[in-house]
Amino acid sequence: MKTTPKPHIEIVLPVFNEVQNIQPLLKQMDMVGQELKAHASISYLFIDDGSHDGSSELLYRLYRERTDIRVVQLVHNFGHSSALSAGLDHFEGDIAVFMDADMQDAPEALWEMFIQWQKGKKTVVAERGQRKEKNTLLFKAFYFLLHQSARSLPPINFGTHCLLDKTVVNRMRQLKERNRYFPGLVSFSSGEITPVEIDRGARAHGKSRVGLAGLINLALTALVSFSSAPVKMVSFLGLLAAGGSLVAGIIFVCIRIFTDKAIPGWASMMTAMAFGSGLQLLCLGIIGEYIARIYDEVKQRPLYLVDKVLSKRATGAKRPASEVA
Ligand code: UDP
Ligand code: MG
Repeated sequence: MKTTPKPHIEIVLPVFNEVQNIQPLLKQMDMVGQELKAHASISYLFIDDGSHDGSSELLYRLYRERTDIRVVQLVHNFGHSSALSAGLDHFEGDIAVFMDADMQDAPEALWEMFIQWQKGKKTVVAERGQRKEKNTLLFKAFYFLLHQSARSLPPINFGTHCLLDKTVVNRMRQLKERNRYFPGLVSFSSGEITPVEIDRGARAHGKSRVGLAGLINLALTALVSFSSAPVKMVSFLGLLAAGGSLVAGIIFVCIRIFTDKAIPGWASMMTAMAFGSGLQLLCLGIIGEYIARIYDEVKQRPLYLVDKVLSKRATGAKRPASEVA
């Protein structure tokens, strides 16, 4: 009887200073891998995003000890989104599973996602249920705003924890934009998106490498690259302010003509001016966000540069032009 070969799952893990988390995570993933063994083979692709806490040395040691680990070392720290892009470009399996290396993304979710893949689903995402982390309210507000303004995105709260069939990965490789909101790119490249509800845990060791400023920047990227609502809001605000000033002007003139109550001129003037300039600054800021991102796109710099690829696998995969090592 002819047997079909087992699919190969490659777990893609971006790493920036996660020396304390790598081994505990691998231990848990290996346990899940053991259970999955009859159905699929598993290996790991670490993207070392310029770590300097001993993660690189640890990854090198693990690479030498095991046959199921590949490591792509970037020249320096390029940020989470770029590390994910390096993961997309270097992935070589049948199924890619993207996860954070800090154990916030539950290893057990792999089973549930894989079952969906066996049913023919090509994009399976971890929908965020309960969150055991800071800024939960901010995340909720962000997703609400995003789904209200970017109608092309599905109304599913998901981040980067997902399973993608290689066909979806190949489509994502064609997306060359520099300001990258990963869940948006996943949505754009997928047909049906299957959510599985997974609670998001707290980071096992250390503080967030992305941080609040990084999250705000990502939120802006998401909004600006998937919606033109903010810039439309600028026109609306302008219209509102102009309309408001017109009505106020008419009222002031009527009071002047029909009553003897003189308006203390400077107070109303100052209010109107302050309102107007505040509005202008806000609008300029919003437009500036778009321009800054256009500038980034025009520069056409590679998203990341590879220093070394540690791989025991003979591969004919074409490497991106950015890779010079
Ligand atoms: N990360 C990365 N490059 C960075 C920042 C983070 O590769 O510049 C990795 C990090 O090691 C982790 C994942 O991306 O595996 C998510 O980062 P983090 O936990 O800091 O993000 P948060 O969960 O706080 O959004
Ligand atoms: Mg994290």
